[in-house]
Order: sequence, then C-alpha cells, then structure tokens
Amino acid sequence: TKWVYNFGAGVNDGNASLRNLLGGKGANLAEMASINLPVPPGFTITTEVCTAYYENDRNYPVELKAQVDAALARIEAAVDRKFGDKDKPLLVSVRSGARVSMPGMMDTVLNLGLNDTTVLGLSAASGDERFAWDSYRRFIQMYGSVVLGVDHHRFEEIIEQAKLEANVTEDTALTPGDWQVVVEEYKKMVADEIGKPFPQDPQDQLWGAIGAVFGSWMNPRANVYRRLHDIPADWGTAVNVQAMVFGNMGEDCATGVCFTRDPSTGLNEFYGEYLVNAQGEDVVAGIRTPRPLSQAYAKEGEVSMENALPEAYKELHKVREILEKHYKDMQDIEFTVQQNKLYMLQTRSGKRSAAASLRIAVEMANEGLIDKNTAIMRVNPAALDQLLHPTLDPKADKKLFSRGLPASPGAASGAVVFSADEAEMRAQKGEAVVLVRIETSPEDIHGMHAAKGILTTRGGMTSHAAVVARGMGRPCVAGAGGISVDYGAQTLSAGGVTLRAGEIITVDGATGEVYAGAVKMIEPQLSGDFGTLMEWADQARRLKVRTNAETPLDAETARKFGAEGIGLCRTEHMFFDPQRIGAVRQMIMAKDEAGRRTALAKLLPFQRKDFVSLFKIMEGLPVTIRLLDPPLHEFLPHGEAELGEVAEALGMDAATIRERASELSETNPMLGHRGCRLGVSYPEIYEMQARAIFEAAVEVAKTANAPVPEIMIPLVGTKKELDLTRAQVETTAKAVFEETGKTIEYSVGTMIELPRAALTADQIAEAADFFSFGTNDLTQTVFGLSRDDAGKFLPAYVEKGILPKDPFVSIDVDGVGGLVKIAAEKGRAKKAKLKLGICGEHGGDPASISFCESVGLDYVSCSPYRVPVARLAAAQAAI
Ligand code: ADP
Ligand code: MG
Ligand code: MG
Repeated sequence: TKWVYNFGAGVNDGNASLRNLLGGKGANLAEMASINLPVPPGFTITTEVCTAYYENDRNYPVELKAQVDAALARIEAAVDRKFGDKDKPLLVSVRSGARVSMPGMMDTVLNLGLNDTTVLGLSAASGDERFAWDSYRRFIQMYGSVVLGVDHHRFEEIIEQAKLEANVTEDTALTPGDWQVVVEEYKKMVADEIGKPFPQDPQDQLWGAIGAVFGSWMNPRANVYRRLHDIPADWGTAVNVQAMVFGNMGEDCATGVCFTRDPSTGLNEFYGEYLVNAQGEDVVAGIRTPRPLSQAYAKEGEVSMENALPEAYKELHKVREILEKHYKDMQDIEFTVQQNKLYMLQTRSGKRSAAASLRIAVEMANEGLIDKNTAIMRVNPAALDQLLHPTLDPKADKKLFSRGLPASPGAASGAVVFSADEAEMRAQKGEAVVLVRIETSPEDIHGMHAAKGILTTRGGMTSHAAVVARGMGRPCVAGAGGISVDYGAQTLSAGGVTLRAGEIITVDGATGEVYAGAVKMIEPQLSGDFGTLMEWADQARRLKVRTNAETPLDAETARKFGAEGIGLCRTEHMFFDPQRIGAVRQMIMAKDEAGRRTALAKLLPFQRKDFVSLFKIMEGLPVTIRLLDPPLHEFLPHGEAELGEVAEALGMDAATIRERASELSETNPMLGHRGCRLGVSYPEIYEMQARAIFEAAVEVAKTANAPVPEIMIPLVGTKKELDLTRAQVETTAKAVFEETGKTIEYSVGTMIELPRAALTADQIAEAADFFSFGTNDLTQTVFGLSRDDAGKFLPAYVEKGILPKDPFVSIDVDGVGGLVKIAAEKGRAKKAKLKLGICGEHGGDPASISFCESVGLDYVSCSPYRVPVARLAAAQAAI
C-alpha cells in the first residue's frame, strides 16, 4: 500500500481531489506545487495510516517506516541538506491536516531536526547565530508543549525572565547569547517535567511528532468537536512533513496569512497580515501586532508588506490571482518569505462573513469565474439572516468607550460577561450578553455562540475570535488594545472609564467601535448584491415561497422580501385585538346560537377589514386563510383579577364566567376541542369568517386585482369533517356572490396535521383543492409529544443522539416527512392538480426546504424575515 505521498520539487503524487486521503492541507500543498507555485518539498502520510493505526492497536503499518525514509531522502536531495547533519541540517515542520480543518488537533511543530549539534551547523550555514538559537528554542518550546505535553506557561516564564535580565521588552531584542541561555533553561525544565532528557535524535523527534498527530485524533477535545460537527472518527487525519523555510532569518524575511479578497466585506482587495522576521505562529499568537499586507489597508504609520518587501509582495500578488483562477473561490493563504523569496505553505477556501460571501459570489459570477448556479450554492441561506440584521443608527447618541478591529460585521448590545460559561448561562435565561475576553480559544465556542457580540482586547483580524465570530455571524470587535480587562475584578476599563460585569455595552463589528451603554439600531438596507443573488435564486428555484402573516406590517415586510403570497393567515390572532376580544368573549359566553350570532355579527366588520387590507397588500397573490383553530378557553381570562374586569366589561358576574371557563377547560388542549371540531360544533363561527373573507374579496376586486382566497380548514382527520365544513363555506360564498352580484374565484382545502389525515389523504383529497402540511402540529401528533413540554427532555434527546436535531426546527424526514410523502402521493394520485404546501417553522428551515423540494411540494410558507432564506434554500434544493 502507498502510505506516503510526495509533494514539491517536481514530484507530486497527490492533488486537490485527494482531500479524503491526504487531508485538506496535504491535498492543496500538492495541488499548489503541481501548478508550479513555490511550495517547499515534503510528503503527506495518508489518513489511511491513521485509520490503520487505530484498527491495529496503535501500531503503524509495517511498510510505513521505509516509505517515510525514502520520502525524507527525496527532500534531502531536493534541498541539499541532510536530516541530523552537523553541517547542513535539514529541518522540517510536522503538520496535522484532516479532511476538514479541526480545532483540537495537534498544533504544528516547526524546526524539527534541531539539537545541540545541528543548531551549530544551522548557525554556521546561515551565518546567523541569533536565528539559529531562536529557531532551536522555538523548536523545544513547540515540541515540548505539543508533543511532550509540558505546560506552555513554563516556557513563557523562562523567556520573561531572560527579557527581564537583558532589560528588553521585545523577543527580537534578545541576543544569540540570551537565546542560548534560554535553550539551556528550556532543556533543564523539560527534563525535569518529563523525567528524561529532551530528545536529541532527529528520528526520535520525527516519530514522536508523527505519533502526537495521530494520537491527537482521539484526544477528548477532538472527539467533542467531531461529535458536534458530525465528523466520523474513521476519517482520520493526515500528517504533513515539509522542509522548513525561514521567516525569522532577518529583515528580508517575513511570514503572513492573507485572503484573496476581504473576508469581512468581500471587497476584491488583497487582504492580510504579516510580520517581518517572524515564524508562522507569531502572526496569530498576538505576541507582536501584525501589519497589513497591502498599502490599501495600511493606517498612518503602518508599514505594509507592499512597501517593506515589494518584490515578495509582487510575487504573492501574482499567486493570489493564480490561486483564485485555479480554485475559483476566495482563498485563505499562508506564506513565508525567506530572504525576499516567497514560499507557499497553505491554501484553502477562505471563511468569510455573510456579507462577504454574498458579495464574492455575485462578483465572481459577474467576473465569469463561476456560473450563477455556483454563486447561488456558495451562499449559506442561514447566513443571509445576518444581512437582514440591524446596524447602529449613525444619528444615535453614543458614548465611544474604545476601538478595536472590525472583525465581524453587525452590531450588538448586551450585558458584559467575562467567561464563556457565564455567557451561556445568562443567554439561556434570555439575557442579551456581550462576551468580553482578552483573547478566545476553542474552549470558548459555546459562549461565543450564546453571546450577541464578542469583544477581545488582543489578536488581529485572523485571531481565533475573529475567525470564529465571522463563521458564526456574531458581531465581533477584536484586538481592542486600549481596553484593559481584569477578570479577577470583573471589570474592563479604557480611557479612565471602568465598566463592570453586567453593565451594557455595544459593539459595532463593522467599524470596530465599542460603546458604553445601548445604542439605537436601524434596519438593514437590502443592497444591490443581495437583490442580484435573490434574482438568480428566483430563476433557479421551482418551489414558491409564501409567508405566514396576519398583520399588514408582516404582510408588507414579507412582500418586500419577495413573498409570493400568504401561506398561512391565522385568523385567531385577529381575535385577540383589544377592540374585538370583548365580542369574542360575548360569543363564547352566549347561551345559544342566536346569542352567538349576535356577537359574531359584531366581529364580522373587523374581520372583513383585516382581509381587505391583506388582499390589497397581496395584490392578487394567493392568500391562505385558516379558519379558527385554537380551543375557545384560550380567549377567556386566566387570573382572578382579569376575570373581574372581563365580567364588568360584559356586564356579567364573575362566577358565571368562571363557570364557563372551567366548563371549557381541557386536560390536553393540543388534542382538544379545536380546529374543525369547533366548526362542526359552532358552524356559525366559520360561517362568519367565510362571509368576512368573501365580502372583503368582492370589495377589493372592485378596485384592484381580484384576490385569490384559499380557505383552509384546520385539524381535519376525516373526509366527512371537510365535507361538512366545506359545504358551509360554499353556501356562504354563494350567498355573498348573490348579494353582491360579483363572483370571486376561491378554493377550499385543509391542513394535514394529523396522522389519520395523512394516511387517508386520498379520501380527503376528494373534498380538498389543496393540502397545507401543518408540520408543527404534525410533529407533535406523529411523535406524540407536546411542544410546550418538550423543552424538558428534547435537548437531552439531541445530546444523546436519539434525535439528530430538534424536530420542531428541522423536519424529521423519516417519520413526519414519511407521512408528508404518503399524503402527497395519495393526494395527488386522487387529484393530480392538488396544490401542496407547507406552513409552520419548517417552511423557513433550509434542510426542511430541501425535503419539500424532494417530495415535490408547490410552495413553502415561513415568517417574513425567513422569506429570503427560503428563496435561496429553495434554489439550492433545485440545483
Ligand atoms: P494550522 O493548521 O494551525 O494553520 P499549519 O500546519 O498551517 O497549522 O502551520 C502553521 C504555520 O506554521 C504556517 O502557517 C506556517 O507559517 C508555519 N509553517 C508550517 N510549515 C512550515 C514550513 N515548512 N516552513 C516554514 N513555516 C512553516
Ligand atoms: Mg495553517
Ligand atoms: Mg396546527
């Protein structure tokens, strides 16, 4: 078996398509090398070795050693250095790399191959003593903490001590002699910690590092991450071993990370950070503040790489173009410059904010780099949500507290918390919090997720906080160096002002500004790119997108977002209006039909008015109106105090109302006297509603586009229920049309939200013009669980893997979805033209929308703000 793949220096066994075998990093190193980009030579030990290692009781395949030896010999020949050689030593980096980048995996070890002898050779060969000893101490530090498990603070203490003794503040100011002392101290300390000397044999070092990478695949942090992200354990990780190039060899050397376009805004501008005379991890570690790559991003006094290292910058700029053309996507690149020569160390698809993903997708399609469908697929529908979120009102009164880097766009206000656990705890109680940290690490992810916004005082645009926040869509200000955080005292201060935990601050991730107190926000503008992508999505999708709306405001918002009608208008919401609730209660309290009709007559004009305004807003688009659904006791007062008021308003005594309320009270309202069961018991209610709908439709049709009302009967379980209620509706329609002399087209259908309805859908279809899957109730009735009580156990079900996701958020494809499929097939078999839709939360969930596409529904309906998400998700489902 081939366990080892070469890359660089003219031999590339792999390429980008072998990601599963070589991991993302290894596959892309081979790909870059094969298109002649300057990649230091190396080799990748495959993910299959990792799998074999664990299957075989943590033993390597027997051929591995020989294959690694041969690959290492090839590197030696290519760079004309020898591993462990005292004069011209080869140094390598050992880098882990799974299929998907995974925090929790072993960190990279650089400068491997150095020992007490080779450090002298490196020094002589480079003519740079400081560089050689700096590299050696870096190696001991990295290998010591990453492979040998020595706490990294132990190393930092020694450096701090050395700086104190040398009376300098910057690492770079330490002399070769100082570093030599640091190395001796390091070795002593490590030997003390692990009970044996620091390994001097490069072969031991190499296999120690390889073992650490494979070992880290099963460490607890990696296991947790895999579980959270559904990454199978048998994917394994690869190990990359690569000849070192040095960014820490002097002022003509540098290291950096960059994005081929701006990852926050999407602007087509080369974006990145670099440090002169530094090695890889320095840029992200936040020890020194990195500088901008291109002059366009340089602030006053900052020296960009474009100016400091013009030759290497030009090279890098060329690489940027080559990589974008090659990968047809925005790339996140890691590079090092050694003595003005550029080396590429990594490339991958860059993480980006929602705004950037939109802009980049649209611009790349306009540039002809990708086609429209690819552009549509590039934008995460869930992330669109962020773009519809508020920003700070520029005219608002605000008190600037401090400033940092605009690390992830969007604005947020919340109470200051200093730990991830605290953020999570308070957010669970419904509080808006802003997580304030000196810097963040992978252990803080749950708190970052819970927080409305994130603020760090250290780190750049590529720091952990910045990258993770952009991915999650949390507003983030990073590296606000003017703020000092005191975890002990639970305060943050800047410019003489101190804020305590719990006080409100506001972060603006688009500008990097931080304000004390809350700041007024404004609704987002739907920018040009947004409109363009939506247009493309509309061309690509088959599913129609409607909205759930009862109020004119919701209906208007939804239309602005592109809704193609109303899929669910819940008429009971109109009953709660203070002007009408009196009449509703009078109707409920009435002793007989005549009394009810009197009360309903009062409601009629209100309902008619509601429908008139919805029909007008919808301008001839279909409007699905659900007749009364909830049980009547929901409209009666709950507390004693309220009971008294209501009694007075109705001119009745409290006892009568109390009695009626207890008569109507139900053990399980979800399964009680509701839906069409009300229409069967009190036909006059549905009659009034139908009359209101038809009279409104006739009225609107006189001056505007004729409305298309779709009257929906809820909670039908048998065809007879629908027959009966449908007949009432038709009688009412006929009456109204005769009275007004005008006829309106309408249809009558039902919600499918009971298993019996789904299973007898062929019968029900005979009486229905359409089905709308009420998947909220259907989920309740299929699982036999009440949504209101599910909070007590459902989270544990998801945690224990009994259910993959909350079935109220994303449709349970096998169970609930299975019934939807049966009903759709049975319904259509009986009536080919039966219109099928879905209403309820699932209508705005991308995974559920993809399911709806697969069963061939005609439309989805969701809340107004989800309409753009649904349009995009529907397009993606169709592509
Ligand atoms: P991560 O997955 O955390 O990004 P990498 O394996 O990419 O880890 O290594 C981190 C950094 O180490 C790289 O960005 C690069 O700067 C440095 N590095 C890795 N390999 C080499 C090498 N062969 N020569 C010089 N620097 C290297
Ligand atoms: Mg990297
Ligand atoms: Mg329902």
